[in-house]
Amino acid sequence: MVITGLKSFVNIFFIKKENGYIMVDTGMNSKAVDSAFRGTGISPDLVSHIIITHGHQDHYGGAAHARELTGASVIAHESALEAMRSGTSEKLISHSMTGRIISFLMPKQKVRPVEADIIIQDEFSLQDGDHAIRILHTPGHSKGSVSIVLESGEIFCGDLLRGRPGKLNFSIWYDNYDDMVESLRKIEALEPEIIYLSHGSPITNEDLGNFLANLK
Ligand SMILES: [Zn+2]
Ligand SMILES: [Zn+2]
Repeated sequence: MVITGLKSFVNIFFIKKENGYIMVDTGMNSKAVDSAFRGTGISPDLVSHIIITHGHQDHYGGAAHARELTGASVIAHESALEAMRSGTSEKLISHSMTGRIISFLMPKQKVRPVEADIIIQDEFSLQDGDHAIRILHTPGHSKGSVSIVLESGEIFCGDLLRGRPGKLNFSIWYDNYDDMVESLRKIEALEPEIIYLSHGSPITNEDLGNFLANLK
């Protein structure tokens, strides 16, 4: 079961396990983390793992605080580590004029650095009773992007896609277009029932299929 902890500019999710929870992303700072716990009523000591979908500040900025609060292990892809340990973001390339303007205006702020406890390369599995929670490397938005696959047919795809059904788009910043499309096709082939986006609302695999079919 998936609980949306914080539905804001960036979403924070909790995956309910047999015993406890896994937190997916932490928002930009400790405030986001605190409101996610306050909003859900989940007790921080029930969180066993914090999965970081990728090394952008809006996703891992609260991780150092969340780790202290919960005592949980932070999981991230090896390509996200450098950014996370320096409080910066994995490389962003703007693919639109708006993106370039926002990048130029954005303060070059750092967030609290954090070290990962579990480092992913291609794939990693967490056992939850009889179920496996799979974490797959799905690059494209950034090199250190991962997706989380639940046996219930739910997938978290981070920033590979943003928006809502019928109004989907790529982020205006991404690392590599071909990798991004390939990662999305990989997700589509898993035939999920629900895909959770970090910025926006959940979509179905049909929504994803329609989006991919309309790419030039
Ligand atoms: Zn991102
Ligand atoms: Zn983001």
